[in-house]
Amino acid sequence: METFMKNKNNILVTGGAGFLGSHLCKKLLKEGYKVICLDNLFSCDIKNVDDLLKYDNFIFVEGDVCDFKINKKVDQIYNLACPASPVHYQRDPVKTIQTNVLGSINMLELAKNNNAKILQASTSEVYGDPMVSPQNEKYWGNVNPIGVRSCYDEGKRAAETLFFDYYRQFDINIKVCRIFNTYGPRMHHNDGRVISNFIIQALSNKPITIYGNGNQTRSFCYVEDLIDGLIMMMNTKKNCVGPMNLGSDIEISIKDLAFKIIKLTKSKSKVQFLEPLSDDPMQRKPDLNQAQTKIGWNYKTSLDEGIKNTVSYFKKNKI
Ligand code: NAD
Ligand code: UDP
Repeated sequence: METFMKNKNNILVTGGAGFLGSHLCKKLLKEGYKVICLDNLFSCDIKNVDDLLKYDNFIFVEGDVCDFKINKKVDQIYNLACPASPVHYQRDPVKTIQTNVLGSINMLELAKNNNAKILQASTSEVYGDPMVSPQNEKYWGNVNPIGVRSCYDEGKRAAETLFFDYYRQFDINIKVCRIFNTYGPRMHHNDGRVISNFIIQALSNKPITIYGNGNQTRSFCYVEDLIDGLIMMMNTKKNCVGPMNLGSDIEISIKDLAFKIIKLTKSKSKVQFLEPLSDDPMQRKPDLNQAQTKIGWNYKTSLDEGIKNTVSYFKKNKI
């Protein structure tokens, strides 16, 4: 593994003002990198980069990956630009698929012109509503190509195709990570994803909104662990291209998650069952064998500890 300490390389983080992106930028800045953060502010709060602006090595550019031109030399690109919450990626579905396809082509061209490494933030959603569990990277998935989630699922699948075609056709140094549900401080209060929704509802003693019967499962990874995994993957040898699952493999039903959050926040909230969402995957759990053996990564933070940190964040950052 190459070392990334005290490295003065220029790193571009697209979607760098978002939830994961802002944590990634901060960690890279602390490691001594120069970081350019590109974001069109579609699904984030600009406040996420407030504490990054004090670093001399940080540049924020408000712009879109679909039409972004850069004349700075970049050595690494983390391509995170794309709304990740179903609420936000379904808000402008055509834009979502454009971001994944045109944005990826733009960033891959940039990598080609700069001889840069490029990491794609792909997703467990490429497995759709999986027929196998746990999902390993050889599984091709079960995705509805015309449903309301397709703009994201198929967009991310097309992005993976582009990454592997640029790798085979132009020998680009690619890394593809399939990220499973990740949560933590700096999720937007309107993000709409389950952990932030449940914590905000619990803290205000409002009903906890469960879509469907709550028997669907997810495996939740704490943000700091995930960011370590992305950086470890970026710093692997050229032949380690992925796709690589990153996440937690502790599966929990959404109903049990609701009760856990009620308990941890000592909330008076009751659960409220709402109509199920269209094409909502029923189970999700990564096979982490590759991450453990090829890059030596594993998550460290328990769900209880991660939820407590996230609760503290939402208590401190009241809307
Ligand atoms: P997020 O919505 O907080 O961050 C995405 C960022 O991308 C936002 O700041 C948004 O404004 C920006 N963006 C969107 N479209 C853009 C465009 N066209 N040009 C420039 N910027 C644009 O979501 P996140 O959770 O931080 O996710 C980051 C990446 O990781 C996404 O690509 C997402 O698909 C992937 N991912 C996240 C998770 C997770 O659980 N957090 C899981 C799987 C994959
Ligand atoms: N969910 C829920 N209530 C909410 C938000 C989400 O029951 O307020 C469910 C959603 O239906 C899904 C799971 O929680 O089954 C995870 O949803 P999220 O949007 O966090 O991420 P996804 O894994 O679906 O992309």
